[in-house]
Amino acid sequence: MATLDDTAHARLKLLEGKHLKRSITETRRGQDALVERGGQRLVSFSCNDYLGLSQHPAVVAASQKALVEYGAGAGASRLTGGNHPLYEALEGMLASLKKTKAACVFGSGYLANVGTIPALVDANDLILADKLVHACMLDGARLSGATVMRFAHNNVEHCKMLLEEQRADFQHCLILTETVFSMDGDRAPVAELVKLARKHDAWVLTDDAHGLGLIAGEGKEKPDIQMGTLSKAAGGYGGYVCASRQVIELLHSNARSLVFSTALPPTVVGAAIAALKVIREDKARCKKPLERARQFAELLNYPEPQSAIVPVVLGEPERALKASAMLEKNGYYVAAIRPPTVPPKSSRLRFAFSAVHTEAQVRQAAALLTKHGYA
Ligand SMILES: *Cc1c(COP(=O)(O)O)cnc(C)c1O
Repeated sequence: MATLDDTAHARLKLLEGKHLKRSITETRRGQDALVERGGQRLVSFSCNDYLGLSQHPAVVAASQKALVEYGAGAGASRLTGGNHPLYEALEGMLASLKKTKAACVFGSGYLANVGTIPALVDANDLILADKLVHACMLDGARLSGATVMRFAHNNVEHCKMLLEEQRADFQHCLILTETVFSMDGDRAPVAELVKLARKHDAWVLTDDAHGLGLIAGEGKEKPDIQMGTLSKAAGGYGGYVCASRQVIELLHSNARSLVFSTALPPTVVGAAIAALKVIREDKARCKKPLERARQFAELLNYPEPQSAIVPVVLGEPERALKASAMLEKNGYYVAAIRPPTVPPKSSRLRFAFSAVHTEAQVRQAAALLTKHGYA
């Protein structure tokens, strides 16, 4: 008979053997891109705080103000406890930013996807998901009970083929993609997918977790549902969905992760409002991460990046871990990203560039990779 601990131990050994065991290391984040890990001060390229807003004085002050005014917690779900006035302000800003009629804030980006997708489609429906969409979209897709098929990454033709072959067998069809792919930094052909969806009576949901505040929004061909997170460039926490008024109203009743989970603390909502104001007004800050990414790519002779994310793909998990350790020895923290976060044999260092990185930091990190034969 195997006890639970024996079973856990055996599974951990298995992961360790494949260099896939993960651990959580104490890390203190300081000003700018500095972190303290294991008694060492490092410059981090593994943070999604693209605009440095988690430390921005106006954001911190707004959070403090909300704390003093409203207390530490929300007390109940938004439906049970009532809608905090700060929520209305935040949702109004999000809807205006995404040019939709309405918006709904969730506990996190993960919760937004896990709640929204099953609220819109069910076992009679078809979901077509890009091969590389984030785990939480797939979790939402699974929870919905819909038939899930994957199309090759950013391959509109493949998506079209699946629609032509499959669409007629299902009641509704939802296409899932990201605006900026989280581990590769490339962008989806959103306008083309939306056009395709219109032709085949399908809906499109885009995940803008890595685009908000960095990449201009959608043009005329707007997806039906634009979700995203307040936990990355907005510097705080929370998720959101922007859509028509009817869709948002439906989420209020049907998105289980909204209905059955406590509202965000007022501090978090207050911080998000202040962060979106900075994003609206400080255009120079919003341009910086992409500038740094371009500089890095140029130094390594990579193609021009389309976002603030540049992966250095190294293959086996062990090689990515070694490269990460080398950088750490030299004052830089870049986490090794391994399966199942990325496909097998594509373990990598994922560089996330921020408005607070300096040109010198970017140059030195690139030089270290070149010197040690990783790029
Ligand atoms: C980080 C991320 C999420 C989850 O957002 P959280 O607010 O961190 O829960 C969802 N989708 C993508 C693509 C992400 O990168």
